[in-house]
Amino acid sequence: MREDSVTNPQTNQQLFDSARDLMPGGVNSPVRAFGSVGGTPAFMVSAEGPYLTDAEGTQYVDLVGSWGPALLGHKHPQVIEAVHAAVDAGLGFGTSHPAETRLAELVRSRVQDEAGRGAEMIRMVSTGTEATMTAIRLARGATGRNLVIKFAGCYHGHSDGLLAAAGSGVATLGLPGSAGVTEAQASETIVIEYNDRAALEQVFAERGDDVAAVITEATPANMGVVPPGEGFNAFIREITSRHGALMIFDEVMTGFRITEAGYWGASGRVEGWLPDLFTFGKVIGGGLPTAAVAGRREIMEHLAPTGPVYHAGTLSGNPVAMAAGVATLEHATAEVYQHIDRQADVVASALGEALDAAGVDHSIQKVGSLFSVAFGTSATGVSNYAQAQAQEAFRYGPFFHAMLEAGVYLPPSVFEAWFLSAAHDDVAVQRILDALPKAAEAAAA
Ligand code: PLP
Repeated sequence: MREDSVTNPQTNQQLFDSARDLMPGGVNSPVRAFGSVGGTPAFMVSAEGPYLTDAEGTQYVDLVGSWGPALLGHKHPQVIEAVHAAVDAGLGFGTSHPAETRLAELVRSRVQDEAGRGAEMIRMVSTGTEATMTAIRLARGATGRNLVIKFAGCYHGHSDGLLAAAGSGVATLGLPGSAGVTEAQASETIVIEYNDRAALEQVFAERGDDVAAVITEATPANMGVVPPGEGFNAFIREITSRHGALMIFDEVMTGFRITEAGYWGASGRVEGWLPDLFTFGKVIGGGLPTAAVAGRREIMEHLAPTGPVYHAGTLSGNPVAMAAGVATLEHATAEVYQHIDRQADVVASALGEALDAAGVDHSIQKVGSLFSVAFGTSATGVSNYAQAQAQEAFRYGPFFHAMLEAGVYLPPSVFEAWFLSAAHDDVAVQRILDALPKAAEAAAA
């Protein structure tokens, strides 16, 4: 526990009460407030390896991983060392510096095909929201068209035009979108069900000449995990090319984490087709605020200063964040991915077995190491947002709290994916497995 919490110990409840007085909902990002699972959020004071420790000194096995960045686990020694060295050199220069080129190199080297196509150029930004917002502006600037197509339940951050039928917190709170987004902004985003080729065909048939881009999560993981249907991503590629629109592949969640999203996070293998633009975030910042837009050179060069599409950022390419990202990607070896995939298989199958044993109807939604559970969906499966929303979400609260009680910190929403890391060793995984049967019974009640 940190010194201030030792000299002035406060319970999670006391901390939440003070936070709620100062910050809307007591949080800086809605899902953290435990709104959909109820109860008092645990206020974490430290993180190491696969564990989080709260202000009351309780240790949890962490399955949130800072919502994705903690691929190597918390406080990975080499990442911390790189960050310390960067801090010693100065917190920021507001100039070009070598580490941003190094991170761009690492991203490009892993997201390209044999001909060097893929993430040919990269622009660093500070958040995933900024990356997708910039990618949309870039697509509009490069094509001279206005419309953007997104899929219901896909979350691309909280910029105005992308909040329509978004997943993540918007799904958790059951909102159709967001107040404060004007009709004009919303009207330039067309929302269709995920995995629905006919709907995509129809929109292109009616308005194809106005479509600047289709944006999609490489594999959706913000309405729970929803695997793309066989060939669905390739179909998006084909139809956008046919109509002169761009394909934006949002890899903020999946990039450098899963190996089945169209390219291999570990080795950059591309499966026969490429999007025009990618967005990355989370893992590439190693736990500090960094994200990126990347893609074809001739499109990326539309960005200022080489082109007329404006993007800038006081902290874009911040050297401390770059150092964390570089160290993380340098240590994201094939063995790391194999380990995470293996441990995810173990946890996901144990989850399914525990729910079966407790008689809880469910499906485990899984792509690579990312997975989530959807209750009461075994008959239909979950291939789109309507099915995700129709699940028995009420079962998740009791399940979540039984896991928390047993020292396992799950995402506080059924619509969020579970994240494992290189630091989830067999001891940590066993703690998860031991907690599952009781939690499954709680979900059955
Ligand atoms: N895109 C996807 C697929 C995401 O999962 C997220 C966040 O979870 C974002 C964009 C937004 O990223 P950020 O929260 O860094 O703004």
